[in-house]
Amino acid sequence: MKQFAEVIVDVPAMQTNQPYTYSIPTELINQVFPGMRVIVPFGNRKVLGFAINISEKEPDVSFALKDIEEVLDLTPVLNTELLQLANWLAQWTFSFKISCLQVMLPAAMRASYSKTIKLTSTEISPAVQKLFGDKNEIPFDTKTLTASAFKELSKLKRANQAEVLYQVRDRAKAKKVTAIQGCLSSDQLASARETLRANAAKSFQMLDYLTTLGLEQVTLKKAMQDSDLSAAQFTSAEKKGWLVKTKVEKYRDPYREAVIEQSQPKQLKPAQLTAVERINQAITDHQKSVFLLQGVTGSGKTEVYLQTIATALEKGQTALMLVPEISLTPQMVRRVKGRFGSRVAVLHSGLSEGEKYDEWRRIERHEAQVVVGARSAVFAPLEDIGIIIMDEEHETSYKQEDMPEYNARDVAIKRGEWHNCPVVLGSATPSLESRARAQKGVYEWLRLDERINGQPLPEVNLVDMRQALKTAPALDISAPLLSAIEQRLAQNEQVVLMLNRRGYSSFLMCRECGFVLKCPNCDISLTLHMDSRSMKCHYCGHEEAIPRTCPSCQSKKIRYYGTGTEKVEKELQELLPTAKILRMDVDTTRRKGAHAKILQQFGSKEANILLGTQMIAKGLDFPDVTLVGVLNADTSLSLPNFRSAERTFQLLTQVSGRAGRAEKTGEVLIQTFNPEHYAIQLAKNQNYEKFFGIEMNMRHRGGYPPYFFTTQIVVSGGSEAAVAKKIFGINGQLQKVLSPQAVILGPTPKPIMRINNQFYYQLVIKYKKEPKLEQFLEELLLSSQKDAARNLKVKIDRDPVDFV
Ligand code: ADP
Ligand code: ZN
Ligand code: ZN
Repeated sequence: MKQFAEVIVDVPAMQTNQPYTYSIPTELINQVFPGMRVIVPFGNRKVLGFAINISEKEPDVSFALKDIEEVLDLTPVLNTELLQLANWLAQWTFSFKISCLQVMLPAAMRASYSKTIKLTSTEISPAVQKLFGDKNEIPFDTKTLTASAFKELSKLKRANQAEVLYQVRDRAKAKKVTAIQGCLSSDQLASARETLRANAAKSFQMLDYLTTLGLEQVTLKKAMQDSDLSAAQFTSAEKKGWLVKTKVEKYRDPYREAVIEQSQPKQLKPAQLTAVERINQAITDHQKSVFLLQGVTGSGKTEVYLQTIATALEKGQTALMLVPEISLTPQMVRRVKGRFGSRVAVLHSGLSEGEKYDEWRRIERHEAQVVVGARSAVFAPLEDIGIIIMDEEHETSYKQEDMPEYNARDVAIKRGEWHNCPVVLGSATPSLESRARAQKGVYEWLRLDERINGQPLPEVNLVDMRQALKTAPALDISAPLLSAIEQRLAQNEQVVLMLNRRGYSSFLMCRECGFVLKCPNCDISLTLHMDSRSMKCHYCGHEEAIPRTCPSCQSKKIRYYGTGTEKVEKELQELLPTAKILRMDVDTTRRKGAHAKILQQFGSKEANILLGTQMIAKGLDFPDVTLVGVLNADTSLSLPNFRSAERTFQLLTQVSGRAGRAEKTGEVLIQTFNPEHYAIQLAKNQNYEKFFGIEMNMRHRGGYPPYFFTTQIVVSGGSEAAVAKKIFGINGQLQKVLSPQAVILGPTPKPIMRINNQFYYQLVIKYKKEPKLEQFLEELLLSSQKDAARNLKVKIDRDPVDFV
């Protein structure tokens, strides 16, 4: 018998969606399955690939097929569902299949070239015993193992008696700790006791401990804690033959130090109950319905999530809960872990590669049934999913900007269809697309209109900065805001201040000649950083010293303008010398765990003001926060994006929800230069429904989503002429393909035209139904490989969220 494998290979310079066919060498026959990673020869090197199809039919080709070199997995790392999902993803997002397959796995597994196999059972055959010798983990290498050994090991893995560990650099190694295990029977323990001298108190204590332990294996660390005995005493007990020490694998648990209180399901309020019952029904009936759970902040959406997840678990199913990266705060994790304990795996970018790999394995081994994670967790290898939840479904961080440019919301719904399970999209400010689908009955609409504590939403007031600036105590802080802060501090309450967006902050400008210090590589001004005393580019990382004189006219009157969190912090501290201020932005949260630490300090009231960028807008729940101030509501309004009003409304509503979470009433003050703008007016009144009405009208008139589809094409490269030529060429071809109903915006340079010396041009297609467009874009993707050779990049983005 012969076998052949179709393999999607990882060759960056020659991407294609066509699989290559390889023959399977005799010793690997019946060992390769779809969804396994393999190493194959390609040209004169070896590359990683994914087997996607195995057949016994010899393909009709005129050249000799090459053999698969090596198999990296004993069992598929991508199951049938995920393989099909990858196919769909490639088509839906106009991406190469290899990037779709890779995005589904933790980074540690993406290019793994060494691995070991480890016994997880003690009941093994003599043949296997011989292979392992006195070790319980050996290198697993098809080159050094014989075919029969390979077969034996595969059998072992399938019987769950062994597992394969991938070693990609040191970080992906399983972590080892010392464990102990008693080795005396109760009779032996009793007789050991009789041999002791009466004053050997510690030895008695050790025997007592070993008696309670029985034959259980525990880590040395835990044993020391539980028994109150020292490491030396365990070593001496080992010498006496009372116990044995071994090395055991230990998961790197990012939350091991968190003290997580167990929480019980709450008695549901009527609106919550209606939602929970409806979703539970869908779980029970295996309905693949999509729910829009629209509820103001503090209305108890999370409790609805937790109780429906519990339903799925009771039925023996699993649950996937997606949250935006930014709101994966320890608070949120604590709420889910508090309910489901060790059944929860957490996946987000704050984890180390090793931690992510460990969490992924816990899911794959069915040890975790609930996954909470950010965008890429939507690919978690859960089986038999009973419910999928996406909190803050409107968040743009669910959209990935690199290939594959997917929106986790689309993927979540696709997985819901496969598993026949409900998908719950939750938000206080749903995206227009989702809200419109709820209107049309495509999604089922569930609403939570009241806050749990019965508190009214906080009062929101606007400060017109055009007036206020004349008398403002500082450039960024108006008199009304300052006095509101002072009042809260006097009452020993807490204040959250948000500065809208970091990038638009302090830049240097010469007052004589108007010179602005710009990045040499990008079309963007450099930002002043006080802590490092330097000017930095937020796009490419370029950094230089702060000039003392204007580089253009040598004047000394060069000073900074604009607003940055550091500058506001300084202003605030001068105005309020006794206030304790915590600053949270990209700079103060760069180190691992820094984000959590700041929140913890604020929670324990070590500070009374939390000043930060957007990242403070979400998910925080502090009972003593009674004032929320927005320093500049407008920066997001002026973004060149048809969604800018929606973004501004969402952001202001979200940050307002941080005030008055407990018994105390909250107040929100929004400083703005556009107090009449409908997004700001309606955010003040927290009237989502009215905003939806007005914004839908605008979109209808402008021909934007949800009435029209949009697809963006971006061409980039080092030569502006080549980039422009390419995009105008695409534009010309599109004119021929599209019907007169479609509209092309552009081509134009992107608002930030040059980043890191690469030029960016874009065009956006708005359309309703264009039967020929899909195929055109697919061909464009495939031909883009030729452009890559000429240092031109073509990016196709369906439903783009970012235009800058
Ligand atoms: P949302 O997710 O909609 O912003 P939360 O789920 O955070 O709202 O709920 C707000 C607060 O109300 C939380 O402190 C939560 O523990 C509490 N809560 C939720 N549901 C109930 C309930 N049925 N009874 C009592 N407290 C509740
Ligand atoms: Zn730059
Ligand atoms: Zn100058």
